[in-house]
Amino acid sequence: MATIQKLTRDLLRSNWGTRLFSAQTTKDSPIGINFAFSDTDKEIQDVARKFSREEIIPVAAHYDKTGEYPYDLLKKAWSLGIINGTIPEHCGGLNNSSVTSCLIDEELAYGCTGIATAINSSGLGQAPLIISGTKEQQKKYLGRLIEEPLVSSFCLTEPGTGSDAAAIKTKAEKKGDEWVINGQKMWITNAGVANWYFVLARTDNDPKASIGKAFTGFIVERNTPGITPGRKEWNMGQRASDTRGITFEDVRVPKENVLGEVGGGFKIVMKTFDYTRPSVAASCTGLAQRCLDEASKYSTERKTFGVPICQHQAVAMMLADMAVAVELSRLSSLKSAWEYDMGLKNTYIASIAKYYAADMVNQVASNAVQIFGGNGYNSEYPVEKLMRDAKIFQIYEGTSQIQSLIISRCVIDRAKQLA
Ligand SMILES: Cc1cc2nc3c(=O)[nH]c(=O)nc-3n(C[C@H](O)[C@H](O)[C@H](O)COP(=O)(O)OP(=O)(O)OC[C@H]3O[C@@H](n4cnc5c(N)ncnc54)[C@H](O)[C@@H]3O)c2cc1C
Repeated sequence: MATIQKLTRDLLRSNWGTRLFSAQTTKDSPIGINFAFSDTDKEIQDVARKFSREEIIPVAAHYDKTGEYPYDLLKKAWSLGIINGTIPEHCGGLNNSSVTSCLIDEELAYGCTGIATAINSSGLGQAPLIISGTKEQQKKYLGRLIEEPLVSSFCLTEPGTGSDAAAIKTKAEKKGDEWVINGQKMWITNAGVANWYFVLARTDNDPKASIGKAFTGFIVERNTPGITPGRKEWNMGQRASDTRGITFEDVRVPKENVLGEVGGGFKIVMKTFDYTRPSVAASCTGLAQRCLDEASKYSTERKTFGVPICQHQAVAMMLADMAVAVELSRLSSLKSAWEYDMGLKNTYIASIAKYYAADMVNQVASNAVQIFGGNGYNSEYPVEKLMRDAKIFQIYEGTSQIQSLIISRCVIDRAKQLA
């Protein structure tokens, strides 16, 4: 396994680089479109695809039924170098581009989005450190994830608020050289298994303090006294993923663990979503591609009225609609990732990608169930699980309504500039 991990890393560090639009299109010369993947990207995509097909798919139903955390798969993915890919090189990571992340995440999602979320959503906890951590913080906390198959969590949502992130109540107060955190978080992926958390807390008690100054991000070691994760939540889908609430009671965090500037936490969270939403959209694409593959295969085998159902135009057109949606979703997620890699402000396109992909995968999964008929509604067949797994994409990392709000604000801002 160590050899494969080294091979993957060597490939990714080779002169080919990891950029999708490598040769023609660079930050300095943003002209031309090239849809060819670099050899390096093709190699890493193959590694992720093989892992997904051979390791994830055979056990996906088991983890869906039991809700167990897939530690063995986490360890294998870690040793193959297909998780933690965006961690910087100075921490031992690969410094993968956002485009490369999308390629990997699509493949993992194809196998099972529950297992994929369990093993790669640590990227959401890592993102704030990659965006605004000091070299020391990155080396200590991101480097740890390279040294051992450990995961992190991103703690923003609370029992009382999710979409309205500025309404969080968790507080941090400075006491000497420490900050003391009190509050509750909810729906935190990996809460029960993470080694450390990114936590957003309110640090300015003045209710009139501006959003840009009132919140601070902290890196919090899981084993700090006062932290109590709740029970594992039994969700509609993605059941291999560990989702819990967390209580913080007088949790003392050293001042060295403040991320970025005191008061600058909200901005870090918003930048985090620009960084992670392309990958979430890519995961939707992977799940939708799986639905399309399952449904199209079934449609060539199942016969009604003496012919395979794919020969009924209504079924064939459903497959065509699904294929169109998958392709468009892939394009928008890669474009949003590419904009991020080019250093462009990608908020608009990242929200478009996430919004489109989340709705798309729900429609595609529903079509897959429809094509399977009664069998589609039954847990002995794969698409029932795929449909349950799809729903969460319209909810986490910003609901579809919040994405449309962001998109509409961008459109209106542009209209005002044009006026
Ligand atoms: C399985 C799972 C895993 C998760 N993982 C994490 C995690 O790791 N870290 C983390 O911090 N959070 C996580 N979340 C939380 C998730 O991001 C929130 O659930 C989500 O942001 C929505 O917040 P809410 O549940 O409070 O819904 P609410 O904000 O209460 O929204 C309820 C409904 O109202 C709509 N709505 C709200 N405001 C508006 C508005 N202004 N305009 C139009 N419609 C609106 C919403 O779209 C939604 O349909 C997870 C959630 C789940 C279920």
